[in-house]
Amino acid sequence: SESKPAHFLQNIIRSDLSEGRVSQLTTRFPPEPNGYLHIGHAKSICLNFGLAKEFGGQCNLRFDDTNPAKEEEEYVDAIKRDVAWLGFEWAGNAKYTSDYFDQLHQWAIHLIKEGKAYVCDLSPEEARAYRGTLKEPGKNSPYRDRPVEENLDLFARMTAGEFNEGSCSLRAKIDMAAPNINLRDPVIYRIKKMAHHQTGDKWCVYPSYDFAHGQSDAIEGISHSICTLEFEDHKPLYDWFIENLPVPARPRQYEFARLHLNYTVVSKRKLKLLVDEGYVDGWDDPRMPTISGLRRRGVTPAAIRQFCEMIGVTRADSTVDVGMLEYAIRDDLDKNAPRAMCVMEPLKVTLTNYPEGEQEMLTAPGHPVRDDLPARQLPFTKTVYIEQEDFREEANKKYKRLVLGKKVRLRNAYVIQADEVVKNEKGEIVELLCSVDLDTLGKDPADGVKPKGVIHWVSAETNVDCEVRLYDRLFNDESPDVGDKNFLESVNPDNLQVLTGCKAEIGLAEAEPEKGYQFERNGYFCRDSKYGSPETPVFNRTIGLRDSWAK
Ligand code: ATP
Ligand code: MG
Ligand code: MG
Repeated sequence: SESKPAHFLQNIIRSDLSEGRVSQLTTRFPPEPNGYLHIGHAKSICLNFGLAKEFGGQCNLRFDDTNPAKEEEEYVDAIKRDVAWLGFEWAGNAKYTSDYFDQLHQWAIHLIKEGKAYVCDLSPEEARAYRGTLKEPGKNSPYRDRPVEENLDLFARMTAGEFNEGSCSLRAKIDMAAPNINLRDPVIYRIKKMAHHQTGDKWCVYPSYDFAHGQSDAIEGISHSICTLEFEDHKPLYDWFIENLPVPARPRQYEFARLHLNYTVVSKRKLKLLVDEGYVDGWDDPRMPTISGLRRRGVTPAAIRQFCEMIGVTRADSTVDVGMLEYAIRDDLDKNAPRAMCVMEPLKVTLTNYPEGEQEMLTAPGHPVRDDLPARQLPFTKTVYIEQEDFREEANKKYKRLVLGKKVRLRNAYVIQADEVVKNEKGEIVELLCSVDLDTLGKDPADGVKPKGVIHWVSAETNVDCEVRLYDRLFNDESPDVGDKNFLESVNPDNLQVLTGCKAEIGLAEAEPEKGYQFERNGYFCRDSKYGSPETPVFNRTIGLRDSWAK
């Protein structure tokens, strides 16, 4: 990352600081608390907090809470938790646009007094018709030239709750013929007779996003207000408010490209639909591209930060391959996750020449190269489990596991030979009788014939019974929500496979939820934070070992 060339925002900030246009970098991350954060937000979080850190500035967390209809305290709490979990610290207390409602209201009155805002009685439909189109200029509202005194009186009465929702609004008086439609007398205050999660019943008029955002930036002394490209067209309006109001600072808006990921949807509205319609079991379902879902799945904050670093910051819209996120997740877990063994579909093996009732402790490394990760204790007993798919009665030379009459090494333990197969009345293999060569711990058999394969195993007498959840992609369409597609139709029906009766090595009884392990030969897993009991934990597969589910 150190050799990576600076991106356009780093260049702008560096020159603003060195040429004295800005004395201290101040950014903000401004989520609307109408849902949980997703991987797209992580890009904005890493950018805003990352720039503040890099340039010795600060980054605020501001809840952009101007629409009480869709916002809730639950979302505020979840957002705080997720930002902190990603490893970032906001400056001071979390802030709310609603903290500034008094000031914003006074500034609305200021505009009225200056003849730059008016109360308009057009219905929302009429106002839309008057607004014109890209090709056609709009028409002035018949209420546009109301005298200042009348506007002040009407706005006071709007604020006092005398009028119904939708019956009137306060609009900035800019230019109905402006080529940029955002400048055609935009609504700055609307009536909403609705309690707000922060301000309760205090208000029945609420500022629009456009009126609130830049002024909140100014109040907080934000120097660089970084948003996504769809707000580029709003910038002239952002600047108009700043120029026409006695604000304490002059923030500037900059835009960058949103993150789009294939096989994924990144929109709170759509993710909420998946939750509400029961396609997943909550915002933190491990299949969700939310920060809380990724966390529960076993993804680490470092992997998400690494991914955001890899994708970079540009002004060009593009779709990122989800394989890149998977790469970052796997790379981090490979370096940091302790190793363990877990048998998914157990086949009982009895070691006929091993003493009954004996249990010896073998040790295995916690990680192939990380000496700081503690070694594991593996009880070895007369009965062990191996994977059903690691045994065949007959096989060709390519099959490097256990074959009847042949040998295999049990990982971190001894070489065994399959002598006999026990079948039930249906002819299914239910047990293997094997002999163990106790002179093979850490060395080849005395006859010099080295077994070709190494397989994982777990003591059948001392282990953790567990459930394992294997996740596949949530969508089986590469671009589930492009154009007029209904993304719900491409939900992958096989996105979850649940295996019960799995057997994990005994040390995993102590596994902490969300902490990643590599289950050798199987992938990366973590204990689920919601399901499972102390006796029977549930493990989520974070990701496979190789690109097993990439294209
Ligand atoms: P959504 O459509 O999911 O609700 P949003 O942009 O409306 O997204 P906000 O809560 O307003 O959600 O987002 C907070 C910040 O995160 C904004 O500055 C926004 O630009 C940024 N953000 C949201 N989605 C993405 C994304 N996919 N890529 C990059 N930044 C994003
Ligand atoms: Mg938004
Ligand atoms: Mg939104």
